[in-house]
Amino acid sequence: MSSARNTTVCPRCEEPAVRVMTTSPVPGKWTMYVCDTCFYSYRSTEGPAATDPAAFPADWKVDPADIPGMPAMPPVPQRRR
Ligand SMILES: [Zn+2]
Repeated sequence: MSSARNTTVCPRCEEPAVRVMTTSPVPGKWTMYVCDTCFYSYRSTEGPAATDPAAFPADWKVDPADIPGMPAMPPVPQRRR
């Protein structure tokens, strides 16, 4: 498994931060990618709506500038003493 970054653009946030997460047990069947900016992951065999930035649904796009202000889901509860 490689951790090298490349310039593949993330379908969801459009940052050039996609890297190979893992590959199929049978070599050459599929590759799984993950974005180091928004953590979106997808398999090479998925359709354009999941793999192509131009075809990714606009309502599901993420602006990298919004990520630091996003709430934790589910919320982290207060610590009990
Ligand atoms: Zn992303």
